[in-house]
Amino acid sequence: MIEHRTSSETSIGPLVPRDAFPLLAGGDLAYLDSAASAQKPKVVLDGMRQFYETSYANIHRAVYPLSEAATEAYESARARVAGFLGAPSPDSIVFTRNATEAINLAANSFGGARLKQGDRILVTMLEHHANIVPWQLLRDRLGLELLVAPIDGAGDLDLDALDRLLAQGPKLAAITAASNALGTRTPVKEIARRAHDAGAFVVIDAAQAAPHMAIDVADWDCDFLAFTGHKLYGPDGIGVLYGKPDLLAAMPPWQGGGDMIRTVSFAATEYADPPHRFEAGTPPIGPAVGLAAAIDFIAAIGWNRIEAHDKSLTRYALDRLREIPGIRPVGAGRERIGIVSFTLDGVHPHDVGSLLGTRGVCVRTGHHCAQPLMDHLGLPGTVRASFGIHNDAADIDRLAEALVAARQILAR
Ligand SMILES: *Cc1c(COP(=O)(O)O)cnc(C)c1O
Repeated sequence: MIEHRTSSETSIGPLVPRDAFPLLAGGDLAYLDSAASAQKPKVVLDGMRQFYETSYANIHRAVYPLSEAATEAYESARARVAGFLGAPSPDSIVFTRNATEAINLAANSFGGARLKQGDRILVTMLEHHANIVPWQLLRDRLGLELLVAPIDGAGDLDLDALDRLLAQGPKLAAITAASNALGTRTPVKEIARRAHDAGAFVVIDAAQAAPHMAIDVADWDCDFLAFTGHKLYGPDGIGVLYGKPDLLAAMPPWQGGGDMIRTVSFAATEYADPPHRFEAGTPPIGPAVGLAAAIDFIAAIGWNRIEAHDKSLTRYALDRLREIPGIRPVGAGRERIGIVSFTLDGVHPHDVGSLLGTRGVCVRTGHHCAQPLMDHLGLPGTVRASFGIHNDAADIDRLAEALVAARQILAR
């Protein structure tokens, strides 16, 4: 048997009490899957409910007060997102369904207009499928070449190799700010500088970064950045593409319909200016309001505290896992977000995950939508525990205890 410390001997508490999350309040789930989707705090649910109960109507093109109130709520959510990202203006913020759609928008509209046969695009070994497949589709459509920046043994990007690939003159580099599978953070600002020096446009996938660190698109100087609402304690059904205003202004629409036009006739249609040019049809109005509430909620906590909490939980989790024979952590990046990936010798990650699930410990298992990375590591997948602001040492104790029990069951 393994002797373990109990959470009372460590001082890692939650940043926000579990009770702030109705789904977790009073229950006994150890929810360690925020990287797949975060639970929703009451303030976000209340904010959306209040909006639907008092201010809801379809937005734009109506002059009655209710529709004006809804339009105002939607457009002020956009301004809130611009502030959150350090973006120059709300017009540089396009609402989408999720991060995946945001990257597809960048690939189809920007990539489709700017790239031509023989051009190169650079991605990295750390990417989520959402930042691989849209570029592959574009590659196949236009006849492009995909370059892949490798990682070192710890799971950090190999910046020398990246430089050698940048010397091949890719027109665009699409890079994650943090790996959802290993938790590795990448030096986005430095990468954007090197990519720009090499003449490449820079697209940042910030889906994992957004809940864990301050984003500053002006300081990072990226051309585009995508994130998703549901991993930021907001609702699902909403994502964001930030684009530099001059780039967005020159981009063609990618979906046609209502709301994205200035005038329509059968002979010719004039398109609206960004961001509306890229928001065809009725947008996710209530989810935009919910996302703004989630941003207020996270901003009130503060990034220093969030990063310190992530670090403490990660360190504690790695310590606890090291006590358990057969557990191998995967990835040891220099800088990381609150994610710990591991394998248990001789056991498929899915079997580990289901046994943990029977004990109320929620972790994700498998390839984490990063199959090329798993292939590179020679793994069928990993077990991934990811931390949110409501997690504490007791959740990690639960994980460790459940792993010990799982080992005993599997050893029989
Ligand atoms: C989750 C995730 C995405 C995709 O987010 P969706 O909300 O599913 O569109 C993209 N990139 C990374 C790194 C992710 O973790």
